[in-house]
Amino acid sequence: MKKITIAIDGFSSCGKSTMAKDLAKEIGYIYVDTGAMYRSVTLYALRHNLFNADGTIREQELQAQMKDIDISFRLNKETGRPDTYLNGENVESDIRTMEVSSHVSPIATLAFVRKALVEQQQRMGAEKGIVMDGRDIGTVVFPDAELKIFVTASAEVRAQRRYDELKAKGMEADYSEILKNVQERDYIDSHRETSPLRKAEDALELDNSHLTIAEQKQWLYEQYHKLTS
Ligand code: C5P
Repeated sequence: MKKITIAIDGFSSCGKSTMAKDLAKEIGYIYVDTGAMYRSVTLYALRHNLFNADGTIREQELQAQMKDIDISFRLNKETGRPDTYLNGENVESDIRTMEVSSHVSPIATLAFVRKALVEQQQRMGAEKGIVMDGRDIGTVVFPDAELKIFVTASAEVRAQRRYDELKAKGMEADYSEILKNVQERDYIDSHRETSPLRKAEDALELDNSHLTIAEQKQWLYEQYHKLTS
């Protein structure tokens, strides 16, 4: 069966990753969570004191150190899903903390960070057979993707989902702090100069505020099936 490229974009915490991962597993495609890559650069910057006390980034230092940041994904045999590695260390849970969430969007506005990560993402998808999720996949990374999805849901629904996710992992969570973070990231992600979050003209839009995970999964599988059968 011919392999295609599937690009899934949308706002933070709208369930993109869950549906993207499940589809990839079901159809035997590679799955890449590009948010995890921006989060990894952020974790590196936090660990190397590349944020000033006022929250601004020491851009020149980060730019000089980009060559020292190696991000990769390796399959976790227990979960059946890929874990994120930063310079050989499994950082899958470290990149999901509120500290990283509240510093990631400014990092993702930096053109040199985006350039480096987009190039890596394009190499990963060169052979097709890939499901990639993020903010600019259908617009910048793979503008020729055969299937593009743009997922939305209300900020409140998304904050609740992120809250439930953190709680389920036994991590600290405060609903109003999460809601504020979701809204701030939406704003920065859609207003930045380089590759702002927007729906590609040829993307299918899915508002999943009132859909169950199983319903979303079914919808996505049907879109894939229509294109490949
Ligand atoms: O998807 P996730 O919420 O983990 O992404 C974290 C952040 O990384 C986003 O809020 C956004 O600022 C940035 N991002 C991006 N482009 C992507 C993926 C993520 O700018 N393709």
